[in-house]
Amino acid sequence: MSSSSTQKLDTFLQHAGLADFDPVTGAAPVALPSVRTSTVRFKNLAALDKAQAAKSDLRLRSTTYGRGGMQTHAALEQVFCTLEGATQALLSSSGMAAISHAMLALLSQGDHVLVSDNVYGPVRYLEKTVLSRMGITCTYSPACPDALRERLRPTTRMLYVESPGSLLMEMLDLPLLAQFAREHNLLLVTDNTWGSGYIYRPLELGVDVSIVAGTKYIGGHSDLMLGAVMSAEPELDRILFDNHYALGHSVSADDVWLAVRGARTLPLRMRESAANALQVCDFLSRRLEVVRLFHPAWSQDPGHALWQRDCTGSNGMLSVQLNLSAVQARALVDALTLFGIGYSWGGFESLVQYVDPGVLTGHTYWQGAQHSLLRLHVGLESATDLIADLQQALDVAARH
Ligand SMILES: *Cc1c(COP(=O)(O)O)cnc(C)c1O
Repeated sequence: MSSSSTQKLDTFLQHAGLADFDPVTGAAPVALPSVRTSTVRFKNLAALDKAQAAKSDLRLRSTTYGRGGMQTHAALEQVFCTLEGATQALLSSSGMAAISHAMLALLSQGDHVLVSDNVYGPVRYLEKTVLSRMGITCTYSPACPDALRERLRPTTRMLYVESPGSLLMEMLDLPLLAQFAREHNLLLVTDNTWGSGYIYRPLELGVDVSIVAGTKYIGGHSDLMLGAVMSAEPELDRILFDNHYALGHSVSADDVWLAVRGARTLPLRMRESAANALQVCDFLSRRLEVVRLFHPAWSQDPGHALWQRDCTGSNGMLSVQLNLSAVQARALVDALTLFGIGYSWGGFESLVQYVDPGVLTGHTYWQGAQHSLLRLHVGLESATDLIADLQQALDVAARH
């Protein structure tokens, strides 16, 4: 599955964020320290003036105050830029903060946004509580040009999507959406948490802004919250930078340090989770209760061809549509012993989420109103053990 581009990333990630050599001893720690500081001290005013002047060029990443982050932050920004093929990465305290940063930076009063109806749920909450109050309206739509075209308004400014979508891993045709966005003068913004820059690179497929919740696969150990907004055009870089500064986004150096450490093993963890997930798919596909599997790397998934065309790998996310009642599906979840019951994904451990049917009503891609849906994050446990756990839990559900 590894292409030459992922091989380059594998090597880069092992060398990202190395500390500089001490000019006297010629030595350096292998692991960059967590540079915790609330402000920056200058040798003299000339040095401070030089740092202030350098701020006009974003490439120089000049820092005069702690909020901007020092070497540890610069290392993680470089990780995100290299993964995503971006010229700028701006960090936030969570994935959701990164989403709200991008929206608030790029939208103004009176603007209209087309939003794919498969997006991460809290995006709808952002609209309800914040964007609507600012006179920004959203229309949720299937993410195909025909449906989007019908919903265009003269004030439409942005197309906001997520590929693959959060609950059903619905693959979107990003190059086609990019063409649509260009034709209608819209900014195309995508949530790339699934790919996290390693297996899917939206900016190279024509997307303007890519957002990643580093909380998931980048951190990879379920021990930090972090988000990032990536762009690759000077004008967008500047707008996003200025708004990030004005809104006061800042991340603890310790969390940034953990994210850099996590990123080193991103390729290994994603590959192992992806291999385990395919084994789980293979087992589930033989069970009579299973109506359909949602996992783009699975050959029966409707998005498989797009996945083959646009992605260089997969991960541990899959959903399973079950011909079970809500009571049976809930009994199945309760019977699992290796899958933790909880939200989130991208960590080392397996998780299961019983997807409330109400959450799915806004998703056009969901055609299973009479069935139950479970979302699994397949982690790094032995696939054999995970399959045995699923088998006994399915048997428990069948007895209900
Ligand atoms: C988790 C998640 C987010 C939000 O990230 P947080 O760090 O939890 O705020 C955004 N998008 C997707 C697709 C996610 O899975």
